[in-house]
Amino acid sequence: MTTAQTSTVPAALEPFLAKPKQLLINGRWVAAASGKTFEVYNPASGEVVAHCAEGEKQDVDQAVKAARQAFEDGPWSTMSPSERGRLIWKIGDLIEQHKEELAQLETLDNGKPYGVALVADVALAADMFRYMAGWVTKIQGDTFPITVPYAPDAEFHAFTLKEPVGVVGQIIPWNFPLLMAAWKLGPALAAGCTVVLKPAEQTPLSAIRLGELMLEAGLPDGVVNIVTGFGETAGAAISAHDGVDKVAFTGSTEVGKLILQAAAGNLKKVTLELGGKSPNVVYKDADLDTAIAGAASAIFFNQGQVCSAGSRLFVEQDIFDDVVSGVSEIAKNMKVGSGFDEGTEMGPLVSKEQHDRVKSYLDAGLSGGATATAGGALVDRPGYFVQPTVLSRVTDDMKVVKEEIFGPVVTAMPFKDDREIAQRANDTDYGLAAGVWTRDIAKAHKLAKSIRAGTVWVNCYNIFDAALPFGGYKQSGWGREMGYAALENYLETKSVCIGL
Ligand code: NAP
Ligand code: MG
Repeated sequence: MTTAQTSTVPAALEPFLAKPKQLLINGRWVAAASGKTFEVYNPASGEVVAHCAEGEKQDVDQAVKAARQAFEDGPWSTMSPSERGRLIWKIGDLIEQHKEELAQLETLDNGKPYGVALVADVALAADMFRYMAGWVTKIQGDTFPITVPYAPDAEFHAFTLKEPVGVVGQIIPWNFPLLMAAWKLGPALAAGCTVVLKPAEQTPLSAIRLGELMLEAGLPDGVVNIVTGFGETAGAAISAHDGVDKVAFTGSTEVGKLILQAAAGNLKKVTLELGGKSPNVVYKDADLDTAIAGAASAIFFNQGQVCSAGSRLFVEQDIFDDVVSGVSEIAKNMKVGSGFDEGTEMGPLVSKEQHDRVKSYLDAGLSGGATATAGGALVDRPGYFVQPTVLSRVTDDMKVVKEEIFGPVVTAMPFKDDREIAQRANDTDYGLAAGVWTRDIAKAHKLAKSIRAGTVWVNCYNIFDAALPFGGYKQSGWGREMGYAALENYLETKSVCIGL
């Protein structure tokens, strides 16, 4: 692992950074009612780069009121599907036009390498809006030839309408700030909902810039409101609000459960995209070079701060040492540094809190008997850097194997045969994703079927597309992101029956 020490704020971001970071409520940028702000840090240096308005319950009340009005009375409620689709498409276009700036903001705020932000986060965000724009003109119900036993002589015309669920609260995390906003906003807007969005306190900047671009695209006042602030105040106020019809959340399983409880008050609809501890299985007949590179990228992509990260690496025992040493070599040679430095492959973790959290897992693993064949420690420099780490000599019951670390730490374990691996892969409360590496197509299909997870990647990992549903079995969540499956989560079905 090599590290570089520079950390700069690109000059192109200065005009945006110089402006006050306010709340977007009813089409206008306003300070928090309390006047309070919070600090936003560059995780590569620990320095403050911005102050953001700290929205609380009172601001959420205003945002919900604006969203309700826009839903019921505003131009949004009567806009034709074609016009709504074109507007959403335009948001995608504006993201693309501003891709360098948005990618720089992600690097500054989250720490991820600029090149990754550009080709993954920003490109996928633009695509999400365009994909969902296409659905707007294709949201349709069915007709039903009904037979009613107690009205044998009557005739009916029965059909369904698909209608927007209403005002939606969306609470998102810091690991892919712009992309998570796009995954949430795309389907909500396509369905015709209005939104109160709360970005993560660590990474509010790209959502604010996106808010500006959405106004530039012509989104009517109140359709998307953005309340920056803390989970315990702004987030909790959104999830408990009686004026919110649905809450969509991405983040920790722990907070997901709190959201669910808060939502019970008015029984709002809930979708949750939560944590994971995904198994990544390498069979001895796999193309080993591809599998080793794939296993490394499955865990180290985005500093390991990915809900679907391949954090439990299972390797067929004959090739265990080869695979562990191959992944460890990649880890040791990774260039760790500021996301703005040329060639950086891994940036810092998002925050001091996350840095400390990952450190505590490393300590627990190493003191519990694990061996670090690569990394195993923090990086001694300013900013929140952690060494890419491979832990072996671990057992299935260890904390590092059971709990989501959300950092660049993979645990490697050998397995003997198909039966054993299916059982161990599923031995987790989570069920978000899994990987399988083999040249044997039957083996791949069988294991893919037996794994209880929302996504299984075979001979690839972390492949996302706006069309492909993504979400969790078990405690990894409710509902799906992306694809028509995500749109459905924002639609109600109304049956209309007309006696003829
Ligand atoms: P988190 O607390 O679950 O944060 C996610 C979002 O929920 C943030 O916007 C957060 O606000 C908000 N929130 C927090 N408490 C809330 C509450 N009581 N009511 C409503 N909203 C609330 O996640 P974290 O603390 O940032 O990270 C902790 C762990 O969560 C990570 O280590 C990782 O294991 C997991 N995680 C998973 C994902 C994922 O993609 N599934 C993403 C991020 C984190 P704040 O801005 O104040 O935090
Ligand atoms: Mg938090």
